[in-house]
Amino acid sequence: MIWPFGNDVSRTLTHARIAKLLKTYPDTELETSLEHYLLNAPLKELRSINLIKLELIWNVNRQQLVPLFLHATQKNLVTLHYVIHCETCKGSSTLEKLTDIQHQMQCAGCKASLNPALDQSVEVAFRVHPDLAGTPKKKPHDRFIPAIEVINTETFRILFEEEKPLPGEHVAIKDLTFLFTDLSGSTATYERLGDGGAYRIVKEHFIILFNLIKKNNGTVVKTIGDAVMATFLNSSDALKTALEARKEFTVFNKRKDVRGAAVLKIGIHNGNCLAVTLNSRLDFFGGTVNKAARIQGIAEANEICISEDALTSAKERALFNGIRHYRKTVQLKGIKNEVPIIHLK
Ligand SMILES: [Zn+2]
Repeated sequence: MIWPFGNDVSRTLTHARIAKLLKTYPDTELETSLEHYLLNAPLKELRSINLIKLELIWNVNRQQLVPLFLHATQKNLVTLHYVIHCETCKGSSTLEKLTDIQHQMQCAGCKASLNPALDQSVEVAFRVHPDLAGTPKKKPHDRFIPAIEVINTETFRILFEEEKPLPGEHVAIKDLTFLFTDLSGSTATYERLGDGGAYRIVKEHFIILFNLIKKNNGTVVKTIGDAVMATFLNSSDALKTALEARKEFTVFNKRKDVRGAAVLKIGIHNGNCLAVTLNSRLDFFGGTVNKAARIQGIAEANEICISEDALTSAKERALFNGIRHYRKTVQLKGIKNEVPIIHLK
């Protein structure tokens, strides 16, 4: 899109900062678009940058825009804001930090009590940096991208490490998908290959998994021994990752030095949870997380177990068309009701 007029944004400063951005996040095409946008879009728009609109104007997807804007925030081209919407008065308030968000808050406008959810009432907006265009007086009035779409990215975890709920505080998420993986028979592998040999293969297996998780728009939350915990915005991305991982590891396991040592057991489940800070890192907590881990626990070697709950649309079912599978209701340890699970063989 071509804007007919320029604006009052500082050209020299913008240009210098774009040059810095190119060094840490080299994507010339996106950064040319960003520079053009910052120097030409109406100031009113630049003070409430909406990635939902921008993805249409620039014809790129959000998965490309979010890392770009997170890196641009680091280079003081834009600033990041959390916009919290109030269902009662339809007003919104803006916060600068994730630590400012609490599980229970009060609307500044109508005093109604708010229970912010990172995938519903909390959104992320960006603004042109005040160094470039001065400080705005007005609050943004728009609907932006859900905060979880920004938070659940690898870029956010790396660049905004200090951004997480206050210790002891928690913020709700209505729906997040969890993928747990673990290596089958790792004790035997350690015996067979020795600690050094096994460690090398475990590390290589992490790299393969991390790449697939990232490729399918997921984020690695942590590793626990040989196990990986990752989160996704939807279960089809998680299932895609699981199916692709199984394919890649079939090849990997044929390698002479690997000798079949990297056979995965995978579990997928989704639901509501809490964003918390654990071991000074952004983490997730709750029954859904626990259940997802238990579902992984019942998977056999090379099997993907996905809860029926996670199959929310025909999209996921279409992914395992042609793959041998069966449905079985299981009693998971510590969970009262039986859970229907689809086992992909
Ligand atoms: Zn209100």
